[in-house]
Amino acid sequence: MLEISDLTVTYRTASGEVPALRGVDLSVRPGRTLGVVGESGCGKSTLVSAVLRLLPRTAEVTGRVLFEGEDVLGMSWGRLRAVRWAGVSIVFQGAMHSLNPVQRIGRQIAEPILLHERATEEAAARRVAELLERVGLPAARARAYPHELSGGQRQRVMIAMALACSPRLIIADEPTTALDVMIQAQVLTLIQDLVASQDLGLIVISHDLSVLASICDDLAVMYAGRVVERGPAAEVFGHPRHPYTAALGAAFPVIGDPRSRRNPRGLPGDPPDPAHLPTGCAFHPRCPVAEPECATARTVLWPAGPDRSAACVRVAVSTEKSTETSTGTPTGTSARAEEVSP
Ligand code: ADP
Ligand code: MG
Repeated sequence: MLEISDLTVTYRTASGEVPALRGVDLSVRPGRTLGVVGESGCGKSTLVSAVLRLLPRTAEVTGRVLFEGEDVLGMSWGRLRAVRWAGVSIVFQGAMHSLNPVQRIGRQIAEPILLHERATEEAAARRVAELLERVGLPAARARAYPHELSGGQRQRVMIAMALACSPRLIIADEPTTALDVMIQAQVLTLIQDLVASQDLGLIVISHDLSVLASICDDLAVMYAGRVVERGPAAEVFGHPRHPYTAALGAAFPVIGDPRSRRNPRGLPGDPPDPAHLPTGCAFHPRCPVAEPECATARTVLWPAGPDRSAACVRVAVSTEKSTETSTGTPTGTSARAEEVSP
């Protein structure tokens, strides 16, 4: 459904180049949910925007994005307009501020339907009522203004909007970050049910590994503009192979588990500024198990089990030991890109 290969995005700014994505490979199959996780600044939103070519002009993009086999980066504007909303739709980060405060929400949900499907006003209004009910809001709420709704309700409106033109792939960028824990769970269950009932593809972005592990089939962990680990969600969460994934998993208390609440391990420090990346593995200055060679190591995604890979020299060493040479080669097309030291 979606295949991203060797995607790089570099922002050109007054103070120099910002390499926000550095050779990302990802794919999503229909009916599957991919979680993309990483701390703030790792390039998650840049990735989302690159998929539908929503980046500012200052961003230079290379690589390939195929949606249902079609090259998005080379598409004509007309074709791209058709793919946006109807092929792929995005629930943007910060839904609380994404709605127009002076327009009724029904109007805002109807807009893409009127523009993309050239529906009549009556047909669009019927569809808006249906969509609101599907996301658990009474149809009469169509007449409400955003300030009359709670945070969770506004997020539901954003999801209804994303579903408006029946897309095949939905990308939700931090859909629950601004919501409290109870509402978070409701919204995530809603997204999951919608996807399961319609065989849609779904990408959910979050900084919270445990939330993603509970709702996704597959996970990709990003650090400093690269995918550093990927594989089946339960495996990646339960048995992380990259120290960053392990640190990210330990950084959140497990709800209901008093042990983790009493001993929050956290993740000290901040991700690097992409304009000033460390040499070698970008995580090495914060890595609890770093060795001297990590400062110069090639960080390539190495095979780390069935359907899994991780960009850590420890994984490379264990792979080489266990398989001699047969599978001891980096996976994916990112190998070439990731050999380049920052
Ligand atoms: P995330 O969503 O994971 O928090 P982003 O994709 O928003 O990360 O940002 C990745 C990096 O790119 C950050 O260092 C951010 O400061 C930088 N960045 C994002 N947008 C721009 C922009 N328009 N111009 C310059 N740098 C940007
Ligand atoms: Mg973001």
